[in-house]
Amino acid sequence: MRPHLLNPLFAPLSALPGVGPKLAPKLARLVGPTGETAREAVIADLLLHLPREVVDRSREALVATAPEGAIVTLRVRVDRHKPSPPNNPRMPYRVMVQDESGELALTYFHAEKGWLEKLFPVGETRLVSGRIEWFAGSPQMVHPDHVVSLEAAETLPRMEPVYPLTEGVSAKVLRKAAEAALDRLPELPEWQDPSVLRQEGWAGFGEALRRQHRPLEPSDLAEDNPYLARLAYDELMADQLALALVRRSLRTISGRVRRPTGALSGKLRAALPFSLTGSQEAAIRDVVADMAAPTRMIRLVQGDVGSGKTMVALFAAAAAVEAGGQAAFMAPTELLARQHARSMAPLCEAAGIRLAVMTGADRPKQRKETLEAVAIGEVDILVGTHALFQQGIQFRDLALAVVDEQHRFGVHQRLALSAKGDRTDLLVMTATPIPRTLQLSYFGDMDVSQLTEKPAGRKPIVTRTVSLDRLDEVVERIEAAVGQEGAKAYWVCPLVEESEVSDLAAATERYEILRTVFGEAVALVHGRMKPAEKEAAMKRFAFGEARVLVATTVIEVGVDVPDATIMVIEHAERFGLAQLHQLRGRVGRGKAASTCLLLFKGPLGETAKARLAVMRESEDGFRIAEEDLRLRGGGELLGTRQSGTPGFRLMRPEIHGRLVEMARDDAALVLTRDPDLKGERGQALRVLMYLFGRDEAVRLIRAG
Ligand code: ADP
Ligand code: MG
Repeated sequence: MRPHLLNPLFAPLSALPGVGPKLAPKLARLVGPTGETAREAVIADLLLHLPREVVDRSREALVATAPEGAIVTLRVRVDRHKPSPPNNPRMPYRVMVQDESGELALTYFHAEKGWLEKLFPVGETRLVSGRIEWFAGSPQMVHPDHVVSLEAAETLPRMEPVYPLTEGVSAKVLRKAAEAALDRLPELPEWQDPSVLRQEGWAGFGEALRRQHRPLEPSDLAEDNPYLARLAYDELMADQLALALVRRSLRTISGRVRRPTGALSGKLRAALPFSLTGSQEAAIRDVVADMAAPTRMIRLVQGDVGSGKTMVALFAAAAAVEAGGQAAFMAPTELLARQHARSMAPLCEAAGIRLAVMTGADRPKQRKETLEAVAIGEVDILVGTHALFQQGIQFRDLALAVVDEQHRFGVHQRLALSAKGDRTDLLVMTATPIPRTLQLSYFGDMDVSQLTEKPAGRKPIVTRTVSLDRLDEVVERIEAAVGQEGAKAYWVCPLVEESEVSDLAAATERYEILRTVFGEAVALVHGRMKPAEKEAAMKRFAFGEARVLVATTVIEVGVDVPDATIMVIEHAERFGLAQLHQLRGRVGRGKAASTCLLLFKGPLGETAKARLAVMRESEDGFRIAEEDLRLRGGGELLGTRQSGTPGFRLMRPEIHGRLVEMARDDAALVLTRDPDLKGERGQALRVLMYLFGRDEAVRLIRAG
């Protein structure tokens, strides 16, 4: 239940004056919540959409001494109008104004004469605010940002907040809407510990929020300003409380003690063509110990691309089977589910483990048979996609659920899984190298095993950046490698927009072009294909019939074709570093040396250059993640393309990182003292959690 205090903030945006049915949806797209559980955008969302900087118009200057390029506010008298010559409307319209120090031209392009005459009656005084430039020896201001009469001087914003905008929402409209939203902000109870506020010198929530929307001085919106820090801490606190509640509810369901015998894992080891790395062994030991403990296992295996997480999962599954249970293995895509099943099948066979795979592509009859076999315990390990497992499959005795590629599996799904209330142990695997500060906020509810070593014998991947202008050379090189050395290459096509359709067009076009060179030896795989088609294309590539695989980013996660040694990524500058790292991780998996060619379209900006340089210099996922964080603020860490940190609106890890741990400790303390959030602060914290969209976790608190 939403605390009634918050009602005014959870009204739809259209409840604000000036926000009509046309503007509301546009505004909602800009400020609204995203993600699968997104609700309708409300006024609170607008309040949490903060300006990033301030335009300081407080300085009243004189024309003659106004610094070039600066934004200034001037008090000027209108002298005369110089309309564009009738035969040359492309020439600007100039309004000549002056103050006691000199003359200034207010320059307008494509402006309407009548409008300008009304705005600037000759002989009257106006306040104009905008950027001063010098043009051909005289000062001018092109399209002043604000023009007001002296009577209306108060309406000129002296400290103007600048908001991130979107098409169809102007700065002015957004400012007005935010003002109206602020007026609705009720007095809220303080949910933070007063001693923390004192120690950090933080203002209350309301004051902090007001200072962001109505800054009093430019420093109020500095990156590390204390008002934003307070708000970020609020957000972190809501998040850490939610995680702590999830964790508690997961743990209070006691697990079953399962005692793996080691019989099957011994057979698996014997069947493996390699020996496990020390990290893999350690992670497997963690899992076995968790299973044998009376509490439920909730463990994250984190390991860079290619570190061999699948093996850990397989041994964990084998341990579950040894102890008399079944295991489920969930992959994010059908492609991966099939690939995992394919690579595990021979090992399972050797160990006498019964493995089945189930995806959306199965025929109903086949599916029914699999389901029956699972229900009576004739299947030991069932591999499938996340989606399939959401539909309540009956196991005889599900002991372990493995979820591959955690970042596509958010806290929300973890909650859903825990809500099922069974005592299944949970093992989650992620390749996303998450810097320590963020780890707490994403996985604070889990125990972590890290795979720090790579399997032996891996050769480094040589990474080069090449301008797209040299595409022909690249194609020639690949042709040579394929022809002479029998190499296999991935060719990843750019993300043109946030739309699958345009990605697809680019990939299809590249495919057609490469076909003229490689003929039948090129395959194409993209997200719009039917699973069976994808599978067929992947197989042609895996088995070597196709030597070049043109793909959209569907191959990003987890695809494993060990003898592919060339990775070409077109328009690499458009990808996030984490994504590039994932993609590159598709090669360098076998014994042969691998190459990654990052094709870019110049000219590149400084940041883009630095980012590609990081890729050239490092293969260490953690370092890349840290650099990504440094260079652009972590937005892409979890593979999402939106800016900002997924799940967070205000907190920016590169600035507020130190607050994560503080919030975690504080949240833990709160829950020890007031486990059901019933006390005064507890109630206030419920308000906070609701405000930041973490209320789902509140429902985990025992009723009453
Ligand atoms: P990821 O951690 O990215 O999921 P995978 O589990 O797909 O990595 O493993 C990558 C490749 O490494 C696979 O071909 C797998 O068979 C192989 N592999 C896994 N463990 C080892 C090991 N200890 N020694 C050699 N190769 C290994
Ligand atoms: Mg994997």
